[in-house]
Amino acid sequence: MTSQVLLIEDNEQNRYLTTFLLERNGYSVRVAHDGLSGIRSATESPPDVILLDIQLPTMDGYAVARSLRANAALDRTPIVAVTSYAMVGDREKCLEAGCSGYIEKPIDPETFVGQVEAIADDHRSGFDGGPA
Ligand code: MN
Repeated sequence: MTSQVLLIEDNEQNRYLTTFLLERNGYSVRVAHDGLSGIRSATESPPDVILLDIQLPTMDGYAVARSLRANAALDRTPIVAVTSYAMVGDREKCLEAGCSGYIEKPIDPETFVGQVEAIADDHRSGFDGGPA
């Protein structure tokens, strides 16, 4: 079964590159351009992985992550923060908001998908049933 990724990202170039890399590795990708539409999409049909930009208009990624984590139906869904913020403490803020892990922009096309999978596997390993 193809793994479904929900990509919440407002920057078109980032959406293009990320989608390209994931699809090349066999993932199915749907995109949301802002936090609210991302939350709606995740709620309507929980994806296997959520990739979440932190710097988003209106509602930042931390608020989006907290909202997603308030939905028990998404407990098993890894949320991978992808952000250009590189300040000390941002990783902790991502994790506190409910993200499973953190990848810094600019992403490395050679390692990006592997980083996503490592964070997703680590998140899922925290549940008794293992990979869903
Ligand atoms: Mn952004």
